[in-house]
Parts: sequence; structure tokens; C-alpha cells
Amino acid sequence: MESQTTCAICGKDSTHKCSACGDVYYCSKQHQRQDWKKHAKFCKAYKLAEDSVLGRHYIATRNIKVGEVILKDDEPLLKGPVHNCVPVCLECYTELHESTAVPCTKCGWPLCQNCEEHGLECNFSSSRKDCKVSISEFGYPHPSYQCISIIRALSLRDTNPESYKKLLSLESHCSQITSKESLNTVRFIKRFFKTDDIMEEEIINIMGILQVNGHEVPLTEPPHLAVYELASLLEHNCRANCSKSFTIIGGLIIHAAVPIAKGDHISICYTDSLWGTANRRHHLFETKFFECTCDRCKDPTEFDTMFNALKCKEMNCSGYILPKTFLEQEQDYICKTCESNVPYVKVEKTLEDIGICLSSITKNDIAACKKFLDSYKDILHSNHYYNIDVIVALAQLIGHQTGGLTVVREDLLTEKIELCRKLNKLLTLLVPAENRIRGLILFDLYAALVEFNKRHTTEATSMLLLQESRKYLIDAYQLLKYEPTILPEGKIARYVEKILFSTNMLLEQILQ
Ligand SMILES: [Zn+2]
Ligand SMILES: [Zn+2]
Ligand SMILES: [Zn+2]
Ligand SMILES: [Zn+2]
Ligand SMILES: [Zn+2]
Ligand SMILES: [Zn+2]
Repeated sequence: MESQTTCAICGKDSTHKCSACGDVYYCSKQHQRQDWKKHAKFCKAYKLAEDSVLGRHYIATRNIKVGEVILKDDEPLLKGPVHNCVPVCLECYTELHESTAVPCTKCGWPLCQNCEEHGLECNFSSSRKDCKVSISEFGYPHPSYQCISIIRALSLRDTNPESYKKLLSLESHCSQITSKESLNTVRFIKRFFKTDDIMEEEIINIMGILQVNGHEVPLTEPPHLAVYELASLLEHNCRANCSKSFTIIGGLIIHAAVPIAKGDHISICYTDSLWGTANRRHHLFETKFFECTCDRCKDPTEFDTMFNALKCKEMNCSGYILPKTFLEQEQDYICKTCESNVPYVKVEKTLEDIGICLSSITKNDIAACKKFLDSYKDILHSNHYYNIDVIVALAQLIGHQTGGLTVVREDLLTEKIELCRKLNKLLTLLVPAENRIRGLILFDLYAALVEFNKRHTTEATSMLLLQESRKYLIDAYQLLKYEPTILPEGKIARYVEKILFSTNMLLEQILQ
């Protein structure tokens, strides 16, 4: 412990510590300043706090810049198949079929042809079962796979007590685990394996921990589930200030998406941030067991974006209808302009019908997307979440057909540029931590502007467009730089890095 109380620069005994992280000591302000350049890289930017409403959460201990890494879990505490998983190889998570599944010689759980060993369920199954596991149905979610992550967690008790303790320290809300399906899983484990030493409550507690703290990891196809130690204490916000990225080896990086001030709460979003308020809150309640009351959920206009708004149908009124609050159920919608009232059930029915229509259109069909936007232009606000869902698809679709952007019709190219600009503005305001979507949109915007430039501009405007597109390129890189190269976003980030270099060269040449 000696190093903790001696100055990081000169080694003298010191009592003055870095106030942000408390991990290093200095004899004087001067030596602290001298060390900052080096220490900034290691200085922890957050501390754990606790209150009765939120439980444990993190608070920024200093001002944090956009893009700064706040915390990192090098590896998960636990990983396993996602809930409702089809039979997958329990080592690499590739989907198995009858022709590719090879039963493990020790326990019987099937693996792919490339994997030989697998997780803790191998020993657990072979030592607690008289016969081998046999999986014969493929291609559909298989109930047996729901117990894998639980078995792995239970096995940690004996194989890695330290990790088990960390896992059990996480929030479980286990009193809320009451669904028939969950109780069936518990019964299944009790019946299928010899588990006299394991209490039902212990299994339920672990199910809760996995559900509340699990992240879906897109590094495998299908994705798998992972629980992380540090990241599990991050609080949720529908307009989070941090974004998460997975590392190529399955770790998790949390980085700042907006400038975070000292004292601010540090948050990520646990649900799909591009869903409407009612859907997000319902999903959070069902899967994470809490009622979200974040600033975004509290404001029916969602920071004046009108993300949930419908057009008022009163004659001669150009207003929009919204409920007074989403925090209470089944509120009528009211027009702010003419004060007319539309019953909740009526709005709900309209939204349901449009939702059905939306799920039936093919999202890789430009004409179908445009038809959808046109059909509901007199009903939905142009920023309504249904429209945004389609616009995100449409903006990316244009130019992604054979021949690429070079063969795109003039009006569609202009439309793509407009849609990307609209989305960039909206997403920055509403969901600044949606780095992956916005990064892709900005990259598309860059490419569309370059194409437009090629077709039209004179020398004078060309410089402006080059500079504008370069700005989007830099932003796209900042948003995607932590993405691993096995994901498409990571590949784009590496590509952007390269063209950014050549764009800079080009600009320099022009400016000389
Ligand atoms: Zn010193
Ligand atoms: Zn520090
Ligand atoms: Zn495998
Ligand atoms: Zn095995
Ligand atoms: Zn919320
Ligand atoms: Zn009205």
C-alpha cells in the first residue's frame, strides 16, 4: 500500500490525493499538474453512489469529454445463450442443425464441428445426470437452452467463488420473477439434474440477475448474452449520456456520447431508444422491472421532437395531439392548439393498425417505404417513431442497390441527402448515444455528398462541399471508432479512417 501514500512524481510521503479518482497521491499541486498528462489516461472518471430510489449508480467525478472511455470490462463475468435460443454450439454460439451438431462425448450437449470443449455446463451435466443430454429438435427455440446460463452461474459457486460473489452482488428483482415460463425453467433444472444442494430460490435469484443485467452481444450470430461487473451498475436513461461498444474478445467499453459534467449521473439505455415512450416503458417494466421516469419519458413532446405525436383531425386545425403524460396509463390525447380531446382507445387503435402495416412492408424496398410515409402523412407527425423507423431504412437503402450511388436517380440522391440530414439532427437531439445508427447515417451522408459534388459543382462550391463532407466523415469516425472489426460498423470505421487521411491530403493540396 506504500505507493498509495507517496507522491507519484517524487516519492515523498503525501496526503493530498487526486480528487477525481482517489487512486494516486501527490506531495504538491505542482507535482500533480506535472503528472496529469500521464495520469489522465488512468484517472477514473466515476464513483459509485447509492440512494433509495436508484440504488447503486455512478456519478462523474470530473468533467468528461465526448468519446472518452469511462469504464471498461475486459471480459464478462458470465456469458451464455440468449433467452429463447435455438440450439447453438455452446462454445462459439453458431446455430446448429441436425447435420452439423456433434454431441459432446462427455455430456451430450451438441457442439459445432469446429469446437471440442465447452462451458461449465459440461461438468455440471455429466456429474449431475445419469444419462447424456440429447437434443434432437433444431431450428426452433429450444427450452433446454434456457437453463445453460443459469447452470454456468451455479457452477461458478464451486469453480470460481470470487466471480460467483460478484455475480450475486448484482440486482436481481427476483420477487418479480413469477411468470409461468420462468417457474417451468426452475422445475426443469430441478427435475433434469441432481440438485439437492441447490435451493429453488437460488435459481430464481440467478434468473433475475441474468435478466436484469444481461447484455445481448452481437459478436456472434445469433447473438449471445453476457453479464458484466462494472457495467451492471450503470443506470438507465432513455436519453443516455453514454454509449456501449463490445470489444472483439467480448469485453465492454462504455464511452461518453455527450459532454458529461462533474456530478452528473452516468447512464446507458437498456431498451430500444427509437421506440415510442409507451413501448419503451412497457419493455423496461417487463424485462428490467422498473418504471422509467427519465427526463425523456417525463416529457410527452420528447424535447419538442414530437416523436409520439399524431396530427389533430379537427377541421382547420394544424396542431398535434399528445397525452398530458406517459407516466400514467391510458391517458387521452389532447391537441395543444384547439384543445380537442381524443380518447386513448381511439389513438391506440390507430397506432395498432399503422404498426401492423409497418411490420408487413418489406424494409428493403424503396417504393414500399415511400408509400408508407405517404399513406400516413396526414395522420402522423413527420418525426413520429413509425416514420423515423422507415426513414432510417430508406436513407440507407438509396444507393445500396446494384451499381451503388453512381447510378442513383438525381431526385433520389437529393432525397437521401435530405433524409440523412434530418436524421442526424433528430438523433443528435433525441438519442445522442445511438452511435451506431448515427455513425452509419453520417457515413452515408458523406458518400451521397461526394456523389452530388461529382455531378454538379463548380470549383467554388466544390471546396465547401468537400469541407462539409469531411466534417461528416470525422463525426462518423468519432461515433464508430470503438466498434470491433467483426461488426459492419467496425469495418466502416476502419475504412473511414483511411479515406479521412486521403481527404485531408486532398484538402491540403487544394489549400496550398
Ligand atoms: Zn512530489
Ligand atoms: Zn485521478
Ligand atoms: Zn462451435
Ligand atoms: Zn460436454
Ligand atoms: Zn425513460
Ligand atoms: Zn387541434
